[in-house]
Amino acid sequence: MSDKTAPRVQPETVAAAHGVASDPAFRAVASPLYLSSTYEFAGYDEPRAYDYGRGGNPTRDLLAEAIAKLEEGTGAVLTPSGMAAIDLLVGRLPAGSLVLAPFDCYGGTMRLLKARAERRQIHLELVDQSNIDLFETHLAARPSLVLIESPSNPLMRVVDIAALSTRARASGARVAVDNTFLSPALQRPLSLGADYVLHSTTKFLNGHSDVIVGAVIAADADEFMALKHWANVTGAVAAPFDSWLTLRGLRTLFVRMGRQEQNAMAIAELLKAHPTVARVHYPGLPDHPDHALAARQQKGFGAMMSFELAGGVPAVQRFLRSVRSFTLAESLGGVESLVAHPATMTHLDMGPEARSRAGIGDGLLRLSVGLEHIDDLRAGLDAGLSAVEM
Ligand SMILES: *Cc1c(COP(=O)(O)O)cnc(C)c1O
Repeated sequence: MSDKTAPRVQPETVAAAHGVASDPAFRAVASPLYLSSTYEFAGYDEPRAYDYGRGGNPTRDLLAEAIAKLEEGTGAVLTPSGMAAIDLLVGRLPAGSLVLAPFDCYGGTMRLLKARAERRQIHLELVDQSNIDLFETHLAARPSLVLIESPSNPLMRVVDIAALSTRARASGARVAVDNTFLSPALQRPLSLGADYVLHSTTKFLNGHSDVIVGAVIAADADEFMALKHWANVTGAVAAPFDSWLTLRGLRTLFVRMGRQEQNAMAIAELLKAHPTVARVHYPGLPDHPDHALAARQQKGFGAMMSFELAGGVPAVQRFLRSVRSFTLAESLGGVESLVAHPATMTHLDMGPEARSRAGIGDGLLRLSVGLEHIDDLRAGLDAGLSAVEM
């Protein structure tokens, strides 16, 4: 497809307009949805640009191009979910490869890595990546893949992606960064030295809580081709309609992110000032331990945060019975605000021991701040916090 966006347009323009009016049939302004699973050959042994939908689909490819440009990669592979994106990298490793992952990563990621390790397909080491010296000692074991998640889910710990990538790559490892929490609007891990970016595009990239899709973006062109080939081999490819919805959501990524972050900052300040709240984890707050690093490494602080209620589970229960504007649900990154209780929801499968090692207590709540009016968000949160006080 022809590219209406010149090579060096700003990322906002890529998000809003990549592929606009490039439809070869009718020059449709909104990108068409190609559902066909198969394509006519021109003749004997003459496939055209597309032959079969597992290998390539115009709608999926347009979304992939836009995401790859936003992440400054050579290409993106779209998978049926964020988990499938991570497994695309992990499943391709030779048997027995060592994977280094953060000890406090997303619960689903940990479940996947542990399941692969239990089946002896990989070796797995879970490490605290905020300690660079400790991290270096783990590199002596020659990992094939280092997985980084920054900011981490749900505690919003930020690690130094450039420093970790330099050391990991010097030891021969490839580095993948899960950029789900910030999106390329606020962080570009490839420009910090990573080899791959991972996304649950289910979250901010789509932004409307109506689709499950994932992405792997590669810095290196040969790696991109190898991953695209592997997705075709294993069949882990995103559906055309899901891709189309995600492209539609991506159009507004930058404005959503900007406003959601603005709302998040106001919410973090409200929480910080409230007597029932023991701690707020939001890197945008100046007293967050990783504030300086986040300010240097990121273009913004994003719309995710977590906080601890001093009263533990009973306080959580009272809060959740009375809170308004924040819906109790898993997932994040949509236009609507959500609240989740990691210990019983997103991080349940991690088990109590790993949770306590990662610092995920029973009084911890995670917020995804949406696009509602800030007065309504404040009032809704206040309703929950007041119930805790009683
Ligand atoms: C949700 C999430 C995933 C998994 O993505 P799915 O699309 O739900 O499969 C991976 N990493 C992070 C940080 C997430 O928040």
